[in-house]
Amino acid sequence: MDWLRYHLRKNRLLQVLYLKFTSIINSINYLIRRVRPSALLASKQMKRKQHAATMIGLAKQSGKGRLSGKVAIVTGAASGIGRTTALLFAREGAKVIVADINEVDGVEVEKQIKNSGGEATFIHTDVTKESDVQILISTTVNNYGKLDILVNNAGILLEGSVTSTTQGDWQKVLDINLSSVYLCCRLAIPEMLKHGSGAIVNTSSVQGLTGFYNSAGYAASKGGILALTRQTAREYAGLGIRINSICPGIIYTPIFGINTERPADREALFESWSNQMPVGFFGLPEDIAFATIYLASDESSFVTGANLVIDGGLSIRGV
Ligand code: NAP
Repeated sequence: MDWLRYHLRKNRLLQVLYLKFTSIINSINYLIRRVRPSALLASKQMKRKQHAATMIGLAKQSGKGRLSGKVAIVTGAASGIGRTTALLFAREGAKVIVADINEVDGVEVEKQIKNSGGEATFIHTDVTKESDVQILISTTVNNYGKLDILVNNAGILLEGSVTSTTQGDWQKVLDINLSSVYLCCRLAIPEMLKHGSGAIVNTSSVQGLTGFYNSAGYAASKGGILALTRQTAREYAGLGIRINSICPGIIYTPIFGINTERPADREALFESWSNQMPVGFFGLPEDIAFATIYLASDESSFVTGANLVIDGGLSIRGV
């Protein structure tokens, strides 16, 4: 190898040949990834599900949960990432408040947690309404005596470039995705300050970091969350409250309308996205929930104002 390195440094022709060789290997890799059959993808996803189950099993074996004794609110907890976060928080010993506008699925999550021996309460909450958020916080504190963790996860995806987004849609996506984070923090932090500790996790997106096609309002709302997280973290760092954000990449949840679209379309869509991921597959809600558990737990007591990107390398991908 030293011989090769030496000659590569000295010999221009060898350098050109080496670059040609690596570019051919990269092209072959790219072609293999593009033609990979969906069955292989499905089996990869299955393996990842099994990996998630093993991780959950290991966490349970350790006896005491990582969120034992904590009281946690998860917004948007009736579906997708929020639902899985609520379920895994409960497995880690947290008392979970399932907050969502979707009453049917929210009550189902509450039931599932209780059936597994955990503690949970569903509270119907529209995170854009101050009165709803006030009831959410006061009911939590009245029922459980305190509030330790807030996960600002509720959100919607709205497509449209800056010229095709109506002012109504722009306002809607900012209200649900960004202003809700301000509102929940504004009403939750005073409760956390009463006992001098708290952890807040705000859900942003890789779209808050990099440019994507056709989602001006969504990207602006997610970029705003990153700035708000840093700012708020700075303000409350000395008062025992940690505020961090996460940036999920493409995660398999209903946010893309995958429950309503034809399964074949859904699979084709996710398969095409998989091909663009440096790791070769998209994420699962568990991938995000595991990170949120860390940021919500005392394991991350030295972490505030941070942003954790969980995207299979999507945001660091070059051309
Ligand atoms: P999801 O499955 O659609 O879950 C979002 C939940 O939030 C739904 O239950 C939704 O209810 C609820 N919700 C919507 N508006 C609300 C409001 N005003 N008040 C309270 N709850 C409300 O989506 P997800 O994929 O899990 O997304 C969770 C978060 O992760 C979002 O902030 C999203 O932007 C972010 N994220 C997701 C991805 C991804 O690839 N999935 C990537 C990056 C970031 P309805 O179903 O009734 O609308």
